[in-house]
Amino acid sequence: MLSNKRPEKVRPDEDFPLRGVLKCWCGQSMTAGWSKGRKQYYLYYRCHIHNNVNVPGRLLHEQFDEVLKDICFEPQQVEFLQLAAKALLAEPLKQKQERLKEKLNAISAINAKVLELEEKFMNNQIENTTYQT
Ligand SMILES: [Zn+2]
Repeated sequence: MLSNKRPEKVRPDEDFPLRGVLKCWCGQSMTAGWSKGRKQYYLYYRCHIHNNVNVPGRLLHEQFDEVLKDICFEPQQVEFLQLAAKALLAEPLKQKQERLKEKLNAISAINAKVLELEEKFMNNQIENTTYQT
């Protein structure tokens, strides 16, 4: 029998940015939702299996923002990485251009030989017809 239930999908939601990312110690993705308090609703994350523990979402989001700030590059670090990447790419680029130049020279040499052979062939043909007449 076919079920008319849609498969549950983990959708990113602005209220729960860590849903689908956050894992319980058991490896399960943590689900997120709102729970009703005395005066207001509270955002929480929790595991499907270990559902006796609700992790407060607001605190978690604040701590996550702190972690993100700590792992962001400073402007001078970004500049350093750009310079280092350019310096590291300079040599391979130079080698690539040299190989390209060698190949173009080889093609020119072959073209010159083809032209030379064509000329010899044409001259030979003309000499033959001249001789015949
Ligand atoms: Zn768990």
